[in-house]
Amino acid sequence: MKILIACDMEGISGVVHWGQVMPGSPEYPRFQSIMTDDANAAVRGAFSAVADEVVVTDGHNTGRNILIEELDPRARLNSSNASPFAMVQGIDAGVDGLILVGYHARVGTQTAILEHTWSSSRVAGVWINEQPLGEIGLNTAMGGHFGIPTLMISGDQSACAEANALIPSIESVVIKQASSRMAAECLPPSVAQAKIEEVARRAVTRLKDGKAPAPLRLQTPLHMAIDFMTSEMVDAASLLPGAQRTGRRIEYNAADMPALYSAFRCLVALAK
Ligand SMILES: [Zn+2]
Repeated sequence: MKILIACDMEGISGVVHWGQVMPGSPEYPRFQSIMTDDANAAVRGAFSAVADEVVVTDGHNTGRNILIEELDPRARLNSSNASPFAMVQGIDAGVDGLILVGYHARVGTQTAILEHTWSSSRVAGVWINEQPLGEIGLNTAMGGHFGIPTLMISGDQSACAEANALIPSIESVVIKQASSRMAAECLPPSVAQAKIEEVARRAVTRLKDGKAPAPLRLQTPLHMAIDFMTSEMVDAASLLPGAQRTGRRIEYNAADMPALYSAFRCLVALAK
């Protein structure tokens, strides 16, 4: 059994501020270490169930946050997100279950630590088939395309609620209670990581027992709408062939999730 653990950073234990997740800021190295420990907790949980292969994908910013020298030696690391599937790189390589560690709520969610969707400066909203989705939804739907269920999430209470709304019966670990975008009551990492390990073990055991949540399969062909923050951004994004513009909104039709995911990344990259 092969498990992919997709890690972001905003939902990692103790993170409440951009200064803790931005390379170059004084607090960032501490949280690289804590992110690695949160990932390791999920790795231990997966192996202590029945996983015999665990791959960790670093999906935050440029995908170069996890400290490989501190990673559980049984795991492998997808490092750098200049890759075909970015936050879920490796999802097409025979994976049986997906675990999300350190995830955050979609743009516009109240009381959600560092809520955004892909880019907090560019993206004001994303809808797929008219349903608002953030990074939890996009990456879960990528898994769904390959028939892979999302087993578990860790993050604040709003990220976990967003995942629960999409995937009833997903296992979740609330490791902090947000009171605003940049304040939360946080569990100490040692306590949060014990919970992540325990819940990862339970989530992977459920998969083994045939009791995992169903994969999130969106109806194809897919329709995507993205609202951008400024007119300059949507001017630039509208250059992508196939993009249809109305005001600050781009609409785009895609045959399936990998095509949509690529188009989404292109549109956001263009929208500078
Ligand atoms: Zn991130």
